[in-house]
Amino acid sequence: MTTDKTQFLEQLNHVQREAAVYSDGPLLIIAGAGSGKTRVLTYRVAYLVKFCGVSPWDVLALTFTNKAAGEMKDRIQDLIGIPSRDMMIGTFHSMCARILRREIEALGYSSKFSIYDESDANRLIAQCLDEEGFDRRTYHPRAIKAAISRAKSEMADPDTLGGLASNITEEITAQVYRRYQERLRENSAVDFDDLLLLTVNIMELYPDVLEKYRQRFKHVLVDEYQDTNAVQYHLVKLVAEKHGNLTVVGDDDQGIYSWRGADIRNILEFEQDFPKAHVIKLEQNYRSTQTILRAANAVIMRNAGRKEKTLWTDNPEGELVRCYQAADEHGEAAMVAVETRRLVEEEERSFSDTAVFYRTHAQSRVLEEALIRLGVPYRIFGGTRFYERQEIKDIVAYLRVIANPSDEVSLRRIINVPTRGIGKTTLGHVERYARDYGISLMNALREVKEIPGLSARAVESVGGFLKMIDGLVMFMDEHDIEALIKEVWDRSGYMRELEAERTLEADARIENLQELLGVVEDFKVEYGSVSLDDFLERVSLVGDTDEMEEEGGYVSLMSLHNAKGLEFPVVFMTGMEEGIFPHIRSMEDPTGLEEERRLCYVGMTRACEALYVSHAECRSLWGGVSANPVSRFLTELPGEYLKETIPEEGVAVEPGEELDLVPGDVVSHAKWGRGTVLELVEKDNDSEVVVEFPALGTKRLLLCYAPLKKLEK
Ligand code: ATP
Ligand code: MG
Repeated sequence: MTTDKTQFLEQLNHVQREAAVYSDGPLLIIAGAGSGKTRVLTYRVAYLVKFCGVSPWDVLALTFTNKAAGEMKDRIQDLIGIPSRDMMIGTFHSMCARILRREIEALGYSSKFSIYDESDANRLIAQCLDEEGFDRRTYHPRAIKAAISRAKSEMADPDTLGGLASNITEEITAQVYRRYQERLRENSAVDFDDLLLLTVNIMELYPDVLEKYRQRFKHVLVDEYQDTNAVQYHLVKLVAEKHGNLTVVGDDDQGIYSWRGADIRNILEFEQDFPKAHVIKLEQNYRSTQTILRAANAVIMRNAGRKEKTLWTDNPEGELVRCYQAADEHGEAAMVAVETRRLVEEEERSFSDTAVFYRTHAQSRVLEEALIRLGVPYRIFGGTRFYERQEIKDIVAYLRVIANPSDEVSLRRIINVPTRGIGKTTLGHVERYARDYGISLMNALREVKEIPGLSARAVESVGGFLKMIDGLVMFMDEHDIEALIKEVWDRSGYMRELEAERTLEADARIENLQELLGVVEDFKVEYGSVSLDDFLERVSLVGDTDEMEEEGGYVSLMSLHNAKGLEFPVVFMTGMEEGIFPHIRSMEDPTGLEEERRLCYVGMTRACEALYVSHAECRSLWGGVSANPVSRFLTELPGEYLKETIPEEGVAVEPGEELDLVPGDVVSHAKWGRGTVLELVEKDNDSEVVVEFPALGTKRLLLCYAPLKKLEK
């Protein structure tokens, strides 16, 4: 036992060890990137369970992405040596969803509530705008949604928001907010912000409920505490204040969510909130080379409002940060692709060692194209995620209606998908009837024969639809979820329609639907049996970085925001240009700019061994072309850490990947930029192409090796 413990603690340095074994009471670990904060958190949980007799059931460990939560769970499990199923390790949102499943009826919602994601919520907002008689072209649903979301993250209800309104837009927002909340409740649905807010509401309204969770969660631990917003802060405080066994870890230099209501003061004022708090600082970075760490420090140093800290590392000096200047975004993307291949072919890296970051999702398309062109396997995190694809959302909407017939957003989505003769006019009549009689849309459908103005065919179609749904509800009672999903495909006619289409796109959609069964399978492996509610909850909660698989073999593409907490041996930071990064919206505002700089620091400190930064002289993005100056973050990086580089030529590309070019085609070359194809020379093995580049003249290139991309004329 003792040697076991000694061995266990040897995995930590002495300051980390102090934090891991610290007795009960509030504990704050504040430290720079890569210093082992997350590691300490996992060791502390394992230590409590393994050596202090704490039951896994008593532990609540919270973080921000499912990916990070999954990793934490795995690590703790490995350290303890037994499955951690009993332990509540997850994101704030998943914890709240679980609490609400048990408690939400107190607020008048059904325990089978649906969780609406951003696009569901936006649709409902649009509907509320219509109902209130506001033009959705003047008041954009997304903008209204964002304002409501901010209000919720500050725990302001519609009345509070209305009271604070100082102009007509704010008044309208408050009015839509009120209706939106009513509609959500009628649909027995919650949005992401509600998951947190309603949990806090219940705990504040019902002391016995609060007491129950205080009793249960005897040890609360929070990672990335710098990014908590008011609701999250409140929630943690409610649960942990009484016993005070609260460990929070974070880095004020990595706060990147203030635009979503995160408040850095939560970490800076922890010692005021918990006067008995013990504070531990970690100063050794275990992740990055000396060079990467110094370069990142040089950038973050420019921020005025920060706590000074020293971060050092024993790691090797490492290579210089490589800086690439490309002619345009295609050149930049080709550089990333060519260099990634070179690392694999010449430096024994694997594709999974590499991550490519960008400031906005829109930048990913061109990068993807270049990677495809050079045969580099990649995965994209964020952007149009698996769960946001139309076919997945359609089938999930069916499942939601089966689980929760009051879910009108889902019902509307599928009522005529595939087309079954319940068009807009019919639906309009049914809706009016529902409103007139104050009943739900589903109940109005059941009274379809009473509804004036409907054709006999429409009545029949509605009857058919209800029969299908009722049949599926009965089916659900006796079958597992995989069978249910397949039954939905069949009975709805959804699969048949896709199969009949016989296009590549339809085939891709079918594959995606098959993949949905894979999701169920994964879920079963992880949690044992799954109910429909569990499944829907998981589908609604998977965040941006969640689809990342453990086994390697592909390059990871993601936005800088999604990269938080992760680490990769090789990192490319692209689009280092004024207006892109720092983002145009934040450039003029000093606080916004400091947040951008922290984001840059987060990006740089993800890299363990090699860091690339790149920019393009000229870039097409968001439908326009601009020549952006180099990002100020690059100029803040001292020249001694930088190495200007040009992309390597002649990286081997799989044969058979040749572009189908004809004279006159416009192409983009990784190094030389845009050019025009003059001639193609067919040879036995390697076709040659002659390209004219405006600034360089004509070049003869081997088609299968040249980093070329065909552009639209
Ligand atoms: P971030 O601020 O980016 O979230 P962090 O402070 O949470 O970083 P970790 O991810 O916990 O840092 O640790 C960074 C890396 O250093 C990990 O690979 C971790 O396993 C390793 N590491 C941390 N401490 C030690 C140690 N004492 N011995 C060996 N490796 C360590
Ligand atoms: Mg961490």
